[in-house]
Amino acid sequence: MIPVQGYTDQTVAVLGLGRSGLATARALKVGGVNPLVWDDGQQARDSAQAEGFTLQDLTKQGAFDDVAALITSPGIPHLYPAPHPAIAAAWAAGVPVDNDIGLFFRSFATQEWDNFERTPRVVAITGSNGKSTTSALIQHILEDAGRPVQLAGNIGRGVLDLDPAHDGEVIVLELSSYQTDLARALTPDVAVFTNLSPDHLDRHAGLGGYFAAKRRLFAEGGPDRAVIGVDEPEGDYLANQLAEGPTDYRVIRVSSGRKLTGNGWNIFARKGFLAEWRKGRQVGSIDLREIPGLPGAHNHQNACAAYAACRTLGLGPKQIEAAMHSFGGLPHRSQIIAQSGGVRFVNDSKATNVDSAAKALQAFKNIRWICGGLEKDGGLDALLPHVGSVVKAYVIGREAQAFAMQLPGVNAEVCGDMETAVTRAVIEAQDGDTVLLAPAAASFDQYDSFEKRGDDFIAQVRAALGE
Ligand code: ADP
Repeated sequence: MIPVQGYTDQTVAVLGLGRSGLATARALKVGGVNPLVWDDGQQARDSAQAEGFTLQDLTKQGAFDDVAALITSPGIPHLYPAPHPAIAAAWAAGVPVDNDIGLFFRSFATQEWDNFERTPRVVAITGSNGKSTTSALIQHILEDAGRPVQLAGNIGRGVLDLDPAHDGEVIVLELSSYQTDLARALTPDVAVFTNLSPDHLDRHAGLGGYFAAKRRLFAEGGPDRAVIGVDEPEGDYLANQLAEGPTDYRVIRVSSGRKLTGNGWNIFARKGFLAEWRKGRQVGSIDLREIPGLPGAHNHQNACAAYAACRTLGLGPKQIEAAMHSFGGLPHRSQIIAQSGGVRFVNDSKATNVDSAAKALQAFKNIRWICGGLEKDGGLDALLPHVGSVVKAYVIGREAQAFAMQLPGVNAEVCGDMETAVTRAVIEAQDGDTVLLAPAAASFDQYDSFEKRGDDFIAQVRAALGE
């Protein structure tokens, strides 16, 4: 745990008592701070109380008297579509609103670091897609190279749950737009921006607000090194805003599909090969085609971003390449879960938005595509250029019919539930086909989470194959 610094003997309110909220309350206590906690859900309140925390209804009149700060959870809207009443109350009382990421950056460095030979470094990863894969890959590569490393943030543990850093340790943090939007301190040593596509638009009042939230990771304090995916105009813009000129090596540009020329530090993947260029010369390359844990151009983008981050930490190309080969991938992301006869089954339940599903559709051929669920804003049109490799769609979700209607030209069957979809796909699949779950929608109409949806897919595939 990281004891929170800067609020000793003061009272700090915590709103939202999920994984990160409870970790925050504990870290405040260990830091000598008095936490007052609240959650809109009774169950969450009960478990916090059982752990000995003091509950305080933060929407009540006077709740913020003598409170030094309010720490909120990423799932709670602080501005759009409307501020949570407790957050509005904190503002009205002039109380600063922050989150666990802000507390982490204020509290992470300690006096003990004066005795370290190598100062711990923080690598923070944001972007619309590929954050988890890139973060886990960086962690894997560093571990493989024998470097002490811990992973936290939007993946795995809450940031304040981390162990205090060791000499030379690297902390890899996956940060969502909700987290970067609100944090009052954001000072990673290396910051990574994978890509940008529309998502969470309701929470950011549109794409501009969403990009602005992610961009804060590069603006507040300024990292020593910025690794930026430049395949969208926003990334190009960000890289240019940060760099002093074409040879400013603090900015590393990354592309999947485009050869990046120029005298800067560039890393790109084309036709399955990663290339690193500096001063207009190639200084490293990796054949990514044979790396089983990183299939498809989207994963090659993640490979480039992870490669770049690891290069800034002093690792060599060969060392990184060797580690990539043993990367197992993450569950629910382009995960090959079974192979039966000539048919491959891939679980990409995490493809909850149109862009990630489009990427999955580009990564495979002869696809029997299980899609549908709770649709996000923006419609499905962006998928249409990528349905060429779909043999047939098997549509699930409560609104399966309406979903299928938005896929003109695709041979689609309305299945409704996972069991029907998998059974139908297994019966119809031919040698060389890939049965792919890449829903292009959230799971909440039928499941608690995308993980549950992916687990159901795996179970149904096992059952249909008689395993
Ligand atoms: P995040 O943590 O940003 O949600 P993940 O690594 O969990 O990213 O991947 C989320 C979804 O996006 C998965 O469906 C995955 O296959 C897909 N994906 C992974 N990397 C990329 C990328 N670089 N570009 C687009 N989609 C990607």
